[in-house]
Amino acid sequence: MSFELLPLPAFRDNYIWLLATVHSAAVVDPGESEPVRRALAQRGLTLCAILLTHHHADHVGGAMALAREFGCPIFGPAAEGIPGVSRALREGDLVDIPALRLRFQAQEIPGHTAGHIAYQGHNIVFCGDTLFSAGCGRLFEGTAAQMSASLAKLAALPDATAVCCGHEYTVANLRFAQLIEPENREIRIYAEQAAERRRQNLPTLPSTLARERQVNPFLRCREAVVIEAAEKHAGHRLNDAIEVFAVIRSWKDTFH
Ligand code: ZN
Ligand code: FE
Repeated sequence: MSFELLPLPAFRDNYIWLLATVHSAAVVDPGESEPVRRALAQRGLTLCAILLTHHHADHVGGAMALAREFGCPIFGPAAEGIPGVSRALREGDLVDIPALRLRFQAQEIPGHTAGHIAYQGHNIVFCGDTLFSAGCGRLFEGTAAQMSASLAKLAALPDATAVCCGHEYTVANLRFAQLIEPENREIRIYAEQAAERRRQNLPTLPSTLARERQVNPFLRCREAVVIEAAEKHAGHRLNDAIEVFAVIRSWKDTFH
């Protein structure tokens, strides 16, 4: 890799993703501007692009100030009317960042919000609040069917894809994953590793799609164990993977 990829912690558990070469940088979902300013100053970088996944304030709050300061474009979903977006993106649209020599493609992944997009390219996906490590976003504006189609779209990316999520929720997500699949060895090992990373105040992200396929219950709605757990919780038979998804998603909403 000829560029650096790192998560800048923001607020309580958000990550702003920084992509950087020697002199230039791009950020994804700058909910606040200060952590970005600090990282740029430390490394002597100029900001040349801002990418937004969805309209929530904890993902867009710092974008306008940074764009004004650095005179750079703001890419964002066409369907969400986010103030300051200068390049509105739809499914398949390309995001060129010439200063970094990088190009990403927008994918529409509705569910958490109605216009949520992901940015995919260079073996990386920035998936905002749709796919988390061992979890997924809440259904604020979309249906279970939409979210499960969006997750399936992300899950179709190659195994080695670095999964760059908007929040550090891994440890809590793995507690729920263990409730669904108590016998899953990968979940148990990952839970220990993730807890250790957090004890050292290190990010658990990025994850990989290979790992998510093994540990993330929301990508495993066709696994017998997950179906069984969901049916037991619902108290009746479930007809398809979308129903399984809907049950475990609403189950997790009340799990603490
Ligand atoms: Zn959100
Ligand atoms: Fe968020």
